[in-house]
Formats: sequence, C-alpha cells, structure tokens
Amino acid sequence: MKKKVVIFSQIFPEFEEKLKQQFDVVKIDPKLSDQLGDVNQQIRNAVVDVHGMIGAGRVLGQAQLETAQHLEIISSVSVGYDNYDLAYLKERGITLAHTPHVLTETTADTAFGLLMSAARRIAELDQWTRQGQWQRTVAPAQFGMDIHNKTLGIIGLGHIGAAIARRAYYGFNMNIVYHGRREKIEVADAFKAQFLSLQELLTQSDFVVVAVDLNAQTRHLISTQEFALMQSHAVLVNISRGAVIDEHALYQALKQKQIFAAGLDVFEKEPLTESPLFELDNIVVTPHIGSATQATRYAMNKLAYENLVLKLNGAQPKYFVQ
Ligand code: NDP
Repeated sequence: MKKKVVIFSQIFPEFEEKLKQQFDVVKIDPKLSDQLGDVNQQIRNAVVDVHGMIGAGRVLGQAQLETAQHLEIISSVSVGYDNYDLAYLKERGITLAHTPHVLTETTADTAFGLLMSAARRIAELDQWTRQGQWQRTVAPAQFGMDIHNKTLGIIGLGHIGAAIARRAYYGFNMNIVYHGRREKIEVADAFKAQFLSLQELLTQSDFVVVAVDLNAQTRHLISTQEFALMQSHAVLVNISRGAVIDEHALYQALKQKQIFAAGLDVFEKEPLTESPLFELDNIVVTPHIGSATQATRYAMNKLAYENLVLKLNGAQPKYFVQ
C-alpha cells in the first residue's frame, strides 16, 4: 500500500506530480482565518493516516498533529523552523526536515536591497518622484546615508549573515562587526570581522542587519533599550523573523528619529495588511520575499521534495533539524 502525503501549502506542480507518482497525495489549503480552531481542525482531520507532510508557513504542534497516527516526517520548504513545536515533534519521533543553503545568497541579496533602499531612501523617493514633487534639484530634505566604508553590524553570523558580510566587505569596503552566541573566527577572518557584544555592536554600527533564527533567546532581542543604544543615523534591516524585533519599540524609534530608517522583510504578524509602521516614511517594507526568486524557490521545493522522499523510503533526509 502506498504511503500517504499531505501538501499543506503551494508547492511547484512538478514536485506535486512526482509525489503523486509515488504516494497517495492529499492537498489541504487551510484558509487564513482568525479562527485558529478551524485551521487546526482542518489539519487534524487531514493528518490522521498520513506518513509525510510538505509545505511551509504553518504552525504545527500538538494542537494540529495529535490525531496523526503514522506521521514520520514534516518536510518544511524553508530554512527557518520556529513555527514547529520541536519538543512535541521529538516526543512523537517525527523528523523535521528543512532547506538550508539553497536560499542563502538570494536572502542576502534581499537584505542588501533593503539596506540600500532604506539608506538612500529609494522607495520613499520613488513615490516622491511619481507624485511630481521633483520640481528642482534635490535638497538636504531628500539626502540619504552613505553605505560604502561604513560599519555594518551583523547579528547572527550564520549562513545568511556571512553572505551579507561578503557583499558588504568586498562590494562596499565596509567594516564588519558581528554578534552571536560564540565567536566564529573561521568565518569572520575572511571579512576581518570583529566579534562584539550586542551592546557594543549597536553602539558602533552605522548599519545593523538581523540574521538570527527566532528562538527563545532571540525573541524581542531588539527592543526599547537596544534602540536607545543605536546611532541616530543608523539603519536597521531585518530579514530573519519579525518577532526578533519588538515592533512597537521599532515604531517609536523610527517615529522619534532615534534611528534613521529601517528595511523590513518580516513582521510579527504575517501577512500584514495594516500597521502603524505603514504611516512612516523612513521605512521600506517587503512581504517576506527573502528567498522569493523563481530559481531559489524551485531549489527549495526540490530539496524539500527530496528530503521527504528519502525519509519515506527509509533513508535520512539531506537536511533535517531533528
Ligand atoms: P543559520 O542557522 O546559519 O544562522 C543563524 C545564526 O543565528 C547563527 O549564526 C546562530 O548562531 C545565530 N543565533 C541563534 N541564536 C542566537 C542568539 N541567541 N544570539 C545571537 N545569535 C544567535 O541560519 P541561516 O543564516 O540560514 O538563516 C537565518 C534565519 O533567517 C532563518 O532561521 C530564518 O528565520 C531567516 N530566513 C528568512 C528568510 C526570509 O525570507 N526573510 C529566508 C531565509 C531565512 P550559532 O552559529 O551559534 O548557532
């Protein structure tokens, strides 16, 4: 008898087809709803007799999975896994696979795009130009911040953090400082990056990029006290997870011009259709597009597919969290 697989978000048709050739495939599309109970119930009903799940962007833990009798693996089409209840999956012996590496460079590109756009006010001045406000040569009211030769502070010198550092060091001659749980000499040496405490990094950096994963220690890592340490010309970029930054504190810091600007790809609540942040000029926002290029999303889908198939055929996935 074929094993059963649930697809819980959109995946590329090519991999859906391949899955259908090997497994009994069920697609669920739990609609975004404020009534979390409904969404959870849809998932609970769908997983009763499944062996594998593939998708992204869903909270999955006991409330959604306790009906699952045979679940062997959740193959996440993402590198981040903060939406999965690791302790529960471990207790149940359910493997969690993910897709690191293939999205590193694309996400670093996104971070740099946000950094440049926020510093040079590209999105804001695009609107200004379209509105017909370019009636004479631009004045100090439209000036931005230089990027080259400045100090970039990277919080979380992991794969994406290092790819951002490489762009900054070789492309923009930036001075790199970083903070993490431990010094990473083998990575940092290539960019002459200096290891600092979080407080030192915030005080010294012209640009701060957040590239940590979301975990119990990084939730609201940047809040009121941290904004108070930053320079008034500093630009903050977040491509990690929204909850790493206290959004209310960020709003206050931007509104009071405690920092110059922010570039954000991720938010505490997603999708985000309204926010006080949207009222501010000194912010650039994107809808969680860190890895969203055709080529990279294809590579992520392929890797997640491979992880799933390996596990369901009795082998180890290429990349798994636990
Ligand atoms: P990595 O695991 O390679 O990097 C995460 C880094 O964060 C590591 O260096 C880790 O340190 C550090 N870190 C973790 N906890 C702390 C802490 N408490 N204090 C300081 N540093 C900490 O992951 P990636 O670089 O591949 O991805 C990073 C995150 O980016 C993902 O987890 C995901 O949430 C997000 N992401 C967002 C995307 C988007 O679309 N916007 C796309 C892809 C990823 P250590 O080395 O010691 O473990």
